[in-house]
Amino acid sequence: MNADDFEHIQYERPVDGVARIVMARPHVRNAQGLRMTYELNHAFDLAVDDADVRAIILAGEDPHFSAGHDLSDPGGDDFARVGTWGDYWSGGAAGRFSHEMEIYLGMCERWRNLSKPTLALVQGKCIAGGLMLAWACDLIIASDDASFRDPTIDMGVMGAEFFMHPWELGVRQAKEFLFTTEWLPAQQARELGMVNRVVPREQLQSAGLDLAEAIARKPEFAVRSAKLAINQAQDLMGRWHAMRHSFALHHLTHAHNELKFGVPTDPRGTSARVGEKMLDANRAHVQRAAGR
Ligand code: ZN
Repeated sequence: MNADDFEHIQYERPVDGVARIVMARPHVRNAQGLRMTYELNHAFDLAVDDADVRAIILAGEDPHFSAGHDLSDPGGDDFARVGTWGDYWSGGAAGRFSHEMEIYLGMCERWRNLSKPTLALVQGKCIAGGLMLAWACDLIIASDDASFRDPTIDMGVMGAEFFMHPWELGVRQAKEFLFTTEWLPAQQARELGMVNRVVPREQLQSAGLDLAEAIARKPEFAVRSAKLAINQAQDLMGRWHAMRHSFALHHLTHAHNELKFGVPTDPRGTSARVGEKMLDANRAHVQRAAGR
C-alpha cells in the first residue's frame, strides 16, 4: 500500500518537517472502518520512516473529527495484520477478542508508541473510537466547539477498547464521563488535562501546523527521548497493565450481552438508530465469523 492507494485518508507534507494525516470520509463523519484503520497505520509508518518528518499531525475533514468506529463497515480480510494474536475471525468470544486486539487495542497502542511526536487536531464531535484516535496522540488541540463523548455504557459495554479514560480525565471525572455518557466540552477537557490547547474553530488547522512546526525545529532525538521517557513513566504507573485488564472486562461485557441478548451489545440501552446499526454490525460480524 502506497500513499497514492489511500482511499479513506490523505497523507500530506504541508511544510518542512511535518506530515499531516487527514481522515477523509466526511460523509460518514470520518467513521473508522478496517480500511481507514490500516491506511492510518500505514501512513504513520510512512511518517516514521521518513527522516525528514519530525512531527505528525492527525486531523479529520470537517465538520467532525470522528464519529468513532464504522458500524456499517463491510470488513474485509485482505489487510496485512500487525498483531501476533491470530484467530482473527475464529468466532465466539475468542474471535471478537483477537479481532479487537488487532484493530483497536493493538493499533492504538502501536500509534501511541510511535517514536515521533504526534498532534491530534479535534473539531466538532469526537465519539468513542474517535477518542481512541485522539488519545493515541501526544498532544491534542481542540477547536472551541469540539466535544467528546463515550456512549459505550449505553450499549452495555464498559468503555471504548483503548481504555485511557482514567489517565486522560482523572479517576473521578472518568467515572462521571462513562457513567453518564454525557458530552465533555473542549474547554472542560482542557481543564482536566485531556486537551493541551483550545482555539477558535477557524484557527485549528493553522494553530496545529504552527505547533507541529515549532516541535519539528527542536533537536529531534531529544524530543523523541522525552516522549519515550514520559510514556515510560506513565507505564511504570501501571497504565499498560490496567489497560489489559480493562480490555478483558470490555470483552466480558460483550460476552455477557451475547449470552443474555444474543448480540454483543445491550439492545435496550441504545437509541433506536444506534441500536439498529449495532445489531446490523453484530449480525455481520457473527456471519463472517461463522463462515470461517
Ligand atoms: Zn468492543
